Amino acid sequence: MVLPIMAYGSPVLRKMGVAINKDYPELSELISNMKESMKNARGVGLAAPQIGKAIRLFIVDTSPFSEDEELSEEEREILKNFNKIFINPKILNEEGKDWAFNEGCLSIPNINEDVVRKETLTIEYFDENFEKQVETINGLAARVVQHEYDHIEGILFTDKLSSLKKRLLKKKLGNISKGIVDVDYKMKFPKK
Ligand SMILES: [Zn+2]
Repeated sequence: MVLPIMAYGSPVLRKMGVAINKDYPELSELISNMKESMKNARGVGLAAPQIGKAIRLFIVDTSPFSEDEELSEEEREILKNFNKIFINPKILNEEGKDWAFNEGCLSIPNINEDVVRKETLTIEYFDENFEKQVETINGLAARVVQHEYDHIEGILFTDKLSSLKKRLLKKKLGNISKGIVDVDYKMKFPKK
């Protein structure tokens, strides 16, 4: 089932996500609905707050990036197969050089801005079988994980922009909250 994506301004996007356990009601159904919703919106990641649940869960599938011919063969291969569920994740370490990438967000349609983040991260999480994993991730895959991780902390990529950029985007963001935006997937707007 395709779930509506909560738009910018929805209070749930600002909540700190709470940890869940194996007995979280209908978890596998929730994950499969999130996958369907992400695909439907052509996203590479989706966090639970974006479908209205302030819990520590997000999904990532970077395979759409694997078509990008600007990337090395090696990176494309990694991105093609980076399809994971992160439950109760915890970033243990971020390192490497700062780099900018033009980010977007399914909750903030039609806005893309450069965001600076670290190149590499090490993350501990539980997979869909509630088995603990620890992984070190680089480059674009790390970028998507960092963006989604922010969601479960109540942070949006627009928070990371300069105050000038924020000022320039204020009207557009306000319009998104009101549903004044051209989008071709199902959304829920807080001020509509
Ligand atoms: Zn996002």
